Amino acid sequence: MITFQERVNLAPFNTFGVTEYARWFTRIEKPVQIPALLQHALFSSGPHLILGGGSNVLFTRAFEGLIIRIELAGIKVIREDNEYVWIKAAAGENWHKLVMFCVQNNYGGIENLSLIPGTAGAAPIQNIGAYGVELTEVLEEVEGFDLTTGSTHTLSAADCRFGYRDSIFKHELKEKFLISSITLRLTRRNHRLRTSYGAITDTLKSLNISQPTIQDISKAVIQIRTSKLPDPQQLGNAGSFFKNPVIESKHYHLLKEKHPDMPGFIIDSQQVKIPAAWLIEQCGWKGKRFGDAGVHVHQPLVLVNYGRATGKEILQLAHQIHDSVVDKFNIDLQTEVNIIG
Ligand code: NAP
Repeated sequence: MITFQERVNLAPFNTFGVTEYARWFTRIEKPVQIPALLQHALFSSGPHLILGGGSNVLFTRAFEGLIIRIELAGIKVIREDNEYVWIKAAAGENWHKLVMFCVQNNYGGIENLSLIPGTAGAAPIQNIGAYGVELTEVLEEVEGFDLTTGSTHTLSAADCRFGYRDSIFKHELKEKFLISSITLRLTRRNHRLRTSYGAITDTLKSLNISQPTIQDISKAVIQIRTSKLPDPQQLGNAGSFFKNPVIESKHYHLLKEKHPDMPGFIIDSQQVKIPAAWLIEQCGWKGKRFGDAGVHVHQPLVLVNYGRATGKEILQLAHQIHDSVVDKFNIDLQTEVNIIG
């Protein structure tokens, strides 16, 4: 049984807390509803948008189609051997809840990804990553539905064509595939700990931990993230608004002559990754506020809604930030957030 609601305010369903209306809205709570959805006229006759936690989306106008909110639930161990455990999570599960389940059971591999907002089903879309770990390293497979044929498919990690915050779901399969579950392969022992990022090293040191467990790493990541990132329950936001840009080494060296303190992380002999937050701060945006749209006071990569900002106002601010970074550094920031408009 599948039900549809008409003219639904999307404010509770996007972490920016922006008020825009969907013409039609439905929730998917059980996989059996999906074939019924795909055969329904409301699905086939107009635009549709699949929504998870709404933590990576900015609505800039009313959505004149069908919003499909994925609320499929369930986390289970489907297999284990001496070394590994395979965990299957339904797409609607909260990602951090899944991380906590794994950390508490001493399953290693995603502790660095603690407190990333969003759902398990959204994780493969941008190949979430943090503090030196990316989903691709632990993802075994993705299950879902081909939205054109209605058939079910299982994709391996290789099939997903993961890149930096990128996957096939942003390209060939964009709007063509509904992810219903993900399966991760995690370690039961001999965990591979990743503590090289400065923030983690410093936090573990401040906690007096020299031989960290995966639980310690998760705790450190949670401490770092809560100290600098706003809680969407308190202040509307969608995490990092822009991706960290990767530029050519030649460009980096030219900029470095003009801006000797510019940070850069070498990717290979040709490319360097620059923290977008640093670029935005250098352009003077940190803590700026225009009406209810603003740039976070601690983390300039995060745009915030102080209350009644519209999606258009937040987008306008993003455009201004983008243009100033082009003017000052000749770097073309790309949005990480999905702009609907
Ligand atoms: P941050 O830790 O200040 O890092 C800023 C940039 O510097 C990132 O591009 C990061 O690369 C890079 N970096 C920092 N230390 C590095 C090291 N030791 N080696 C290589 N590269 C290094 O970034 P933040 O904005 O506060 O975010 C913290 C972490 O959460 C970052 O890893 C960031 O990517 C991640 N994050 C992920 C998502 C997502 O998956 N959607 C959203 C927001 C933030 P990396 O980006 O490769 O880490």
